[in-house]
Amino acid sequence: MKKQIQTPEYKVYYPLKNKKSKIEGTGAYALKEIPARKKIGDLGGVIISEREAIKRRRNVKQIAMVDLEDNLVLDASVNPNELRYINHCCEPNSYIRVTKNRVEFYSLRKIKVGEELSADYGETHHHGTLPCRCGAKKCRGFI
Ligand SMILES: [Zn+2]
Repeated sequence: MKKQIQTPEYKVYYPLKNKKSKIEGTGAYALKEIPARKKIGDLGGVIISEREAIKRRRNVKQIAMVDLEDNLVLDASVNPNELRYINHCCEPNSYIRVTKNRVEFYSLRKIKVGEELSADYGETHHHGTLPCRCGAKKCRGFI
């Protein structure tokens, strides 16, 4: 019998706008000030099985998937929200916390109106092979 996978409701708690990024491609900008250490929201998407994720990865150029627990994956290309366009930065203003069935974004410090949001995607995201263009003073060079 096929196990039913439930996707919880994912919300964004602060208004964000997607427009051209200063880092790469599209970015996410704060429309209102976000205080330090606040939950910005959950990355929108659908929960799929690892098997389904492998299938989907073959057919897409831009991968927007995050591994969760229990061989489940969040596919953020389906049912997306503004958080999908938060770019990687080696000196970010927000951070990602992956729980059992969510990918949460929190502010590390106060984020000003009009500021681009960024998060550290970690070294494993692209296995350290993709050149980083974040422009931070302490940039690691690769992600
Ligand atoms: Zn960097």
